[in-house]
Amino acid sequence: MLIVQKYGGTSVGNPERIKNVARRVVRTREQGHDVVVVVSAMSGETDKLINLSSQVNENPDPREMDMLLSTGERVTIALLAMAIQALGHKAQSFTGRQAGIVSDCVHTKARIEKISGERVKQALKDGKIAVVAGFQGITATDDVTTLGRGGSDLSAVAVAAALKADVCDIYTDVDGVYTTDPNMVPQARKLDKISYDEMLELASLGAKVLQTRSVEFAKKYNVPVRVLSSFNDNPGTLVTKEDADMEKVVVSGVAYDKNQVKVTVQGVPDKPGVAAKIFNTISENNVVVDMIIQNIGEGGLTDMSFTVPKTDAKKILDVMKKVVAEIGAKGVSVKEDIAKVSIVGVGMRSHSGVAAKMFSAMAKEGINIMMISTSEIKISIVIEAKYTELAVRVLHETFEMDKAA
Ligand code: ADP
Ligand code: ASP
Ligand code: MG
Repeated sequence: MLIVQKYGGTSVGNPERIKNVARRVVRTREQGHDVVVVVSAMSGETDKLINLSSQVNENPDPREMDMLLSTGERVTIALLAMAIQALGHKAQSFTGRQAGIVSDCVHTKARIEKISGERVKQALKDGKIAVVAGFQGITATDDVTTLGRGGSDLSAVAVAAALKADVCDIYTDVDGVYTTDPNMVPQARKLDKISYDEMLELASLGAKVLQTRSVEFAKKYNVPVRVLSSFNDNPGTLVTKEDADMEKVVVSGVAYDKNQVKVTVQGVPDKPGVAAKIFNTISENNVVVDMIIQNIGEGGLTDMSFTVPKTDAKKILDVMKKVVAEIGAKGVSVKEDIAKVSIVGVGMRSHSGVAAKMFSAMAKEGINIMMISTSEIKISIVIEAKYTELAVRVLHETFEMDKAA
């Protein structure tokens, strides 16, 4: 078999842990498999680099940011290759560029366009373990890019798809995908398997155990993904195609996201073309808008609120100030201390009353709901950030997620 293994920041957080990863990789190799390992930077390193940049420039150029951030993974690929060699096995490290991971030019959140993987394939042929830097790519014009926070998951899945690997194993600091963040809710239950669609929703709604685009990619190319712990040998969670069993569960997980802000444009003229103007401008700035609400207009004016990632808040405020002037709106404000809490489940398609039950649970705790959005398999609400943990716990209990179906 050809196995792609990915180890996250905590799993390679210090030399001892890197040696632990090396032993696990070698064990897989000794079972007779070809192994490609994708690694993240040591835990905290990417944050440290971001912090460094902010000390020299408040608004760093994205190209230079990627040059900086890509160094974190360079450290771990070299160290892991050395650690594997110390165990008497052949290993070779590859940067994103050397692995032929070609991306578009959107610095700090680039999308992978293709992977040639020639040198990785050659290394495997030569009996080596290939160690590939996660999170980074190269543009057609030879600039280093990064793939967005948590992007090593995407690197791993994309490499697995490109090399037609039999499985992509994502090793992390928890032993699978749980009904909710096990570090927040001790009653969280590990799932044996979860559908791509549910995992996609959970990831995009804040469950950082897998990066959203990695799940999108896995679904598109049908890559079987397993989430496992690098610290034990417990069976993990298989992310796979939906099956009939999965429909029986109404709500399979709760996710939360504290990384968004709510932007409100006040006194927007209530006429055709205004919303288009606002959201076209945002999209031209490569910012992803999540929830949108438009209040009922009064006197020809209306308020419009939407959420965007915290990291884009400053940029959006600047951009919106200009738009406000152009469209003749009254003003724009940003609310930071919010959280989005969501419930997800393919069973929602065939069950009614789920929203009512969710909102009642919030009402009982006196938690005010500021925004709501729904899709076929999820319901999200925006609340005050200070109630996040309470809301997640209460929803986990309300929908009896600690119990297996
Ligand atoms: P890595 O550094 O290995 O990529 P991450 O920190 O990105 O690891 O992701 C693992 C973390 O995801 C866990 O420590 C856990 O706190 C968090 N998490 C959030 N939601 C879930 C969930 N539903 N199941 C498992 N872990 C979750
Ligand atoms: N090191 C990067 C980050 O911290 C990528 C990753 O860990 O997946 O976001
Ligand atoms: Mg991660």
